[in-house]
Amino acid sequence: MSSKKGHGDCTRCGARCCRYIVVEIEKPRTKIDREEIRWFLAHKNVLVYVDDDDKTWNVQFTTPCEHLDGEGRCRIYPGRYEICRDHDPATCEASDSESGDTIFFTTADFDRWWRNQQARRRRKRGAEARGKKR
Ligand code: SF4
Repeated sequence: MSSKKGHGDCTRCGARCCRYIVVEIEKPRTKIDREEIRWFLAHKNVLVYVDDDDKTWNVQFTTPCEHLDGEGRCRIYPGRYEICRDHDPATCEASDSESGDTIFFTTADFDRWWRNQQARRRRKRGAEARGKKR
């Protein structure tokens, strides 16, 4: 979240974290889960990612906060929302240039991942079945 008196880097990155909202979702396991994520990704300015740190799945809606001014500063900083207050400058994404998040921008990205997962599961089941026969 950006601030006038915050850690001072908000204008440098253009207050990136004030320009989207993120909602955590379940890791997709079923065809219904898959369809839901494909539906998310069919919308403009929406992406889905897996956080590299905690492995959570998230849907991100890229849309700027209406309290952001033209210079990337918060116009209501003293009265900003709790979620903005909770933001830890130490985890600022502007300094996190090596994020290893898995990002799905399109249904094609996600479909590729899903097919790979299915193939991996089939190989695992095959290996387990062969192991039981021995
Ligand atoms: S209220 Fe202020 S700090 Fe919170 S997202 Fe909006 S611009 Fe950023």
